[in-house]
Amino acid sequence: MLLGIGVLAYFAIKGRIIRLRGEFQEALRRASQGPKSSLPSQDMVKCPSCGTYSAPSQQKNCGKSECPYKTPSMA
Ligand SMILES: [Zn+2]
Repeated sequence: MLLGIGVLAYFAIKGRIIRLRGEFQEALRRASQGPKSSLPSQDMVKCPSCGTYSAPSQQKNCGKSECPYKTPSMA
């Protein structure tokens, strides 16, 4: 009786570990493939004047006259 419970517990724990390992590997795979489309680094634009990379939403004027980026307050 006790042995049966022990065997059941053993398989229950073992099954849970295997399931956890599968979830862990899937999480790793998801992390390595990554939500790259949502990362701002892919949309980075290089300023031809200063060479600074910045996301379109975070573009700032670097102070050089040829910089195409304008700060809203100065424009
Ligand atoms: Zn610039």
